[in-house]
Amino acid sequence: MAIVSAKEMLTKASNEKYAVGAFNITSVVQMGAIIEAALGKNAPVIIQTSVTPARFLKPEVIVAVFRALAQSVSIPICLHLDHCTDVDFCKKCADVGYTNIMFDGSHLDFEENIKRTREVSDYCHNIGNITVEGELGTVSGVEDQIKVAADEAQLCDPEKSLEFIERSGIDLFGPAIGTAHGVYQTENPVIDFQRLGKIFQKLNNPDVKTPLVIHGGTGLSESTVLNLINNGGAKYNVSTNLKYILMDSTFEYMSGHPNEYDPGKLDKHVKMATKQRIEYWIDLLGSTGKAL
Ligand SMILES: [Zn+2]
Repeated sequence: MAIVSAKEMLTKASNEKYAVGAFNITSVVQMGAIIEAALGKNAPVIIQTSVTPARFLKPEVIVAVFRALAQSVSIPICLHLDHCTDVDFCKKCADVGYTNIMFDGSHLDFEENIKRTREVSDYCHNIGNITVEGELGTVSGVEDQIKVAADEAQLCDPEKSLEFIERSGIDLFGPAIGTAHGVYQTENPVIDFQRLGKIFQKLNNPDVKTPLVIHGGTGLSESTVLNLINNGGAKYNVSTNLKYILMDSTFEYMSGHPNEYDPGKLDKHVKMATKQRIEYWIDLLGSTGKAL
């Protein structure tokens, strides 16, 4: 089976200094496009949903489609629940077959974040091979329904990261280092690469124990992306970019075919546009050919 543990997949990425693309979807068409692109590139890949589409489509439906598509391919692949602030919904998604769960307690105080993240970690680890991602500090911007004003963003304290990981029991760690969700308000966002590198060293020296996650991956320059990977980013989240591709390619197709009522052709157009964009990301992140 191609469905693997995210920790295993990302530890390899971390050791070999590339990142695995973690792509947010809201539709089955996007899921198919991502898997086809990754297969063509022989790349490991992570499919993720935030909470709103997971509730809308139902986690059972997402898991069923994911399994049907993922089981027949040879590349390593995971299904991740992104930015969930509801412990019970984390448990529900783990129960029905998500392979990786993010509990986002970054809005809570340190002790409460640890306590609730630990509850999710213990639950997921008891079920079996389900890994858990936690976040410390606040990634600014808009992600799903979690809104954080840029000026309220707090970066992750490297000194607290090790304690957070040990006490919360997480497998993957998303530290806030200046990246933002949504569309960047400036062309030159201030990213604290040094802080990322310091956190990586604290957690993963001499061996990689807790791979790091980069949130807010849309809209950064290619050199910034590579710098993030060089400083320890192993899971690279892309959400906003794919929303734009979905909406823009839909609009483009419908504008060009105003009297055609064939949804299948529209789906094909959107799928192709999404697939091409995923191929771009896989090449940029360095995960091409890393499936084995
Ligand atoms: Zn995020």
